[in-house]
Amino acid sequence: MDRNSTINVLSPISRRDFLTLSSAATITLGFGGLLQKAHAASPHVLPPLPYAENALEPFISAKTLGVHYGKHHKGYVDNLNKLIENSEFAHLALEKIIVGTAEKADKAAIFNNAAQSWNHAFYWQCLKPNGGGEPSAAFQQRLEASFGSMADFRKELTASAVTLFGSGWAWLVLDGEKLKILKTSNAATPLEKGMKPLLVIDVWEHAYYLDYQNRRAEYVSAVLDKIINWRFAEKNLV
Ligand code: MN
Repeated sequence: MDRNSTINVLSPISRRDFLTLSSAATITLGFGGLLQKAHAASPHVLPPLPYAENALEPFISAKTLGVHYGKHHKGYVDNLNKLIENSEFAHLALEKIIVGTAEKADKAAIFNNAAQSWNHAFYWQCLKPNGGGEPSAAFQQRLEASFGSMADFRKELTASAVTLFGSGWAWLVLDGEKLKILKTSNAATPLEKGMKPLLVIDVWEHAYYLDYQNRRAEYVSAVLDKIINWRFAEKNLV
């Protein structure tokens, strides 16, 4: 297994990295017409949940999904709209706001709410009722080429999700031609690094605590076995 395939972007990005970010916004535009449309202009809107709030039961309860989507995600979108009103960011697409505020201390509130708005819209699409199973043969080949085997891929993604300290996200991304796993803290997103997200698991406690309490590993297993949306990940790779 290629140890370099696991990376960590918890540390601040360098100035040189930041200067390369101009390509990130265009990279992300292809992953979903719904998001692109929803995020094209201000004010930003809460994109519709792609399924009913009880559709992921028993793996994620309607109560968790209702609070997570209706309170947390909505809160990020509402806060973003308040924060950017009459600012230089007021009419920018969400991806451009994220790239334009990343690592700027005086723009941290805008970045956090913009990135969390994007991350959640992406996360909902990574899940589906009657999900899980196996990715397509072509996608499996890509995973095997990067991680050695499907078992190693799963082990590595699970380890990232379970060991992330505090709040954050565990991602499968495309970095150049290579698939990689990374974890990000709080609102941080691979878009900052110019990488293309393929799949994400929200490992903030609000994503699982009502259903699993401190048993984050059980939540991660349930997501991967029962509700992960491989079709969405495959579409993102194209
Ligand atoms: Mn969340």
